[in-house]
Amino acid sequence: MEVGTTSLPEKQELLYEGKAKLLYRTSDPELVWVEFKDDLTAFDGKKHATLEGKGAFNNQISAVLMGMLNQEGMRTHFVQLISEREQLVRHLKMVPLEVVVRNIVAGSLSRRTGIAEGTILEEPIVEFYYKSDELGDPLLCHQHITKVLRLATQEEIEELAQAGLAINRVLSHFFDQRGVTLVDFKLEFGRDSQGNLVLGDEITPDTCRLWDKATGTKMDKDRFRRDLGNVAEAYAEVLKRVGA
Ligand code: ADP
Ligand code: UDP
Repeated sequence: MEVGTTSLPEKQELLYEGKAKLLYRTSDPELVWVEFKDDLTAFDGKKHATLEGKGAFNNQISAVLMGMLNQEGMRTHFVQLISEREQLVRHLKMVPLEVVVRNIVAGSLSRRTGIAEGTILEEPIVEFYYKSDELGDPLLCHQHITKVLRLATQEEIEELAQAGLAINRVLSHFFDQRGVTLVDFKLEFGRDSQGNLVLGDEITPDTCRLWDKATGTKMDKDRFRRDLGNVAEAYAEVLKRVGA
């Protein structure tokens, strides 16, 4: 693992503890110190486990993927790795939407439509979910977002969708070259102090469906959701494939 070499700001108090990460304020108001936890949750937190090493795998996987997106000219919050399980990111004001991009039918899209998991979509699609633990992250239609909850304008929805699709093109190609099919994934965006839309949160096997191209083997959180076993091995393999 290659950690950042520039001098680090001072780590200060805990800002937020979520299900997968801890966020700390730093001496630089523009930067946040993130620590990835070993906790694994599914079904709105109803299923929970601790998996030794998961935080370290996810921290490094997200660092590689976001670092690559930065190099491709896309705005992400990733600044540098601090340690195996910590990274420094830009402090964003998060948009409370989960932006899901899908290339292949799986999970809730299969349940909602009755279309078999594994069916390839004619073109990638984008869905928006309301980031609300109390409500169980419901699927929203555009008018729920613009006219009822007023979380974003139609133009911002379009900006989020275009950003999601652009990230999908780069990520799908990157994974494909490493023998992995990117089935679907969830993104979270925020605004930086200049108002730019920036990709935040994480890109990891917790937030993506990744299938081995040769065998179809699942290499993501579905191994935990569906009790398929070898969860840590799958995350380790993803880290190996992305080449950290
Ligand atoms: P959850 O909140 O769903 O339990 P996490 O444990 O992953 O999930 O918590 C991370 C929290 O930090 C999320 O609420 C996410 O929206 C937020 N977040 C992610 N990246 C940033 C960032 N760069 N700046 C501020 N908040 C962020
Ligand atoms: N996803 C996520 N967090 C969520 C919901 C979904 O990271 O709160 C990811 C999930 O890992 C998958 C994609 O978004 O890669 C689509 O998930 P889906 O709607 O199929 O959800 P499921 O009900 O199967 O978890």
